[in-house]
Amino acid sequence: MIDTEVLVVGGGLAGLGAAHYLTHRGRTVHVLERSSGPGGTWRENTYPGCECDIHPALYSYSFTRLPSWISGQADHHQILRHSRLLADRIHRTARVDYDTEVTACRWNDTDARWYVHTRTGALHRARFLLLATGALNVPRIPRFAGSFAGPVLHTARWNHDLDLRGARVGVIGTGASAAQLVPALTDHACRVTVFQRTPAWVLPRPRTRVPLPYRARRTVEYWRNETLLPALIGSQRRRTALEARALRHLHAQIPDPVLRRALTPSYRIGCKRIIFSNTFYPALRRPTTILKTSPITELAADAVHTADGRRHEIDVLVHATGFHVSAALMRMPVHGRNGISLQEIWARDGAAAHLGTTMAGIPNAFVLGGPNTGVGHTSVLFMLESQFRYIAAALEETDRIGADALVVREQAQHRFTTRIHHDSAATTWTRGGCHSWYLDREGINRSLWPGPTWRYRLHTRTFDLHNYTSIRASAGDSDGVDPVEPGHQRTGTSTATTFD
Ligand code: NAP
Repeated sequence: MIDTEVLVVGGGLAGLGAAHYLTHRGRTVHVLERSSGPGGTWRENTYPGCECDIHPALYSYSFTRLPSWISGQADHHQILRHSRLLADRIHRTARVDYDTEVTACRWNDTDARWYVHTRTGALHRARFLLLATGALNVPRIPRFAGSFAGPVLHTARWNHDLDLRGARVGVIGTGASAAQLVPALTDHACRVTVFQRTPAWVLPRPRTRVPLPYRARRTVEYWRNETLLPALIGSQRRRTALEARALRHLHAQIPDPVLRRALTPSYRIGCKRIIFSNTFYPALRRPTTILKTSPITELAADAVHTADGRRHEIDVLVHATGFHVSAALMRMPVHGRNGISLQEIWARDGAAAHLGTTMAGIPNAFVLGGPNTGVGHTSVLFMLESQFRYIAAALEETDRIGADALVVREQAQHRFTTRIHHDSAATTWTRGGCHSWYLDREGINRSLWPGPTWRYRLHTRTFDLHNYTSIRASAGDSDGVDPVEPGHQRTGTSTATTFD
């Protein structure tokens, strides 16, 4: 059994960032990562043109800035470099095990510890558990009648051995990934057919001509993005102005009225993720690009059939069709007090966590990038950094009051979730006339933070101990006891204290 204080599941930017933050506050941290290197989503997404449309001065942690990022462009190589830099620093202070997939996490009340099983057969015991498995890493592949006989790719599962020079490529989807992929593909492929189901709102990507020092650039980018928010969370005047800006961009880049009509969204801006791009529309104008808006009806061995009766011959099919949200976490059993299953609760009641971070019944555990901590208009790393501060404060408070564990009170989580649903009611995500991965099957916003990101920073600045119950281990050190087997949660006789 491998003992540690803080066990982090996931070695992407979230897990590594948390590990870095906590080791610098004197915590002993152990990271378990399924793949063979750091980087998470930026390791998996290597499709041509893959980059981050948020300025790198903001899409980076305030504690790991890279001077070269002042350039303003961050492709996946540069972001991976960021992850590796973070990982190199962490390797000096914490243990990181790659090729180690976690299969189950079980809380044991008797010794107030997490028992974490891995596919390699190792058993880890930890006081605190950080779940940093990411929200968008299980590809969503739509099912169509028939099947395509040629190579089939997903944007997050690219095959770089495939030579696309001169190929006829079909791309399904027009989300943020497709908007980066299509311009890159049109440089090489002989023909690109884009199958669009719903057009995206596209805003021009701001150019950063004036060089600024890192902090100043970060501040400028932060507030530039934050000014988009009122249009998304209820201001009709700001939304109309933002839509007008996007339509001006469309008119400027697409002179053909027929193509322009096909690319004009019929839902409110921001309802789906806004695309920030200066290259997507020009790529669709190229003579070698075809935009198809007629729905796909069937796949043939060498073609895609659409509802207008047309057959589109292709050599390679690319799914730019997004992801099953939080599927990695939903597939990894996490059992809290008395064996309660996080997955069963979330599947039944919808994903919820107090401040998007701590979950009722699941002591000493924190989910990074959890429910309602996502953002569509700015850097998610800003939200994650807020979570790191909150988690560090939670650990300090647990020690300060002499508790073995803290668990968030159900009422506190309920209050937070009710507030989030209230604040989401007037937003473009729920009212914008579209369906996106931001919403669950019932149309409830379970993904995005419905307010300014600085407000989330304020909410998480100090640890709200009154919303937690403390737990004391009932049986002291249980070193050498049998690990808790899946499905057999040991029921402890721990004592619990509430703070109000
Ligand atoms: P996505 O936003 O979920 O887009 C998927 C696309 O596939 C949509 O256009 C969707 O159409 C289409 N689609 C899905 N199923 C289809 C079907 N059966 N037939 C036809 N079309 C279908 O996925 P994504 O583009 O990979 O982006 C996912 C998220 O990753 C983004 O929202 C963003 O948060 C993040 N991302 C960020 C960046 C960045 O630069 N920061 C870059 C890439 C991705 P409908 O709209 O009709 O469903």
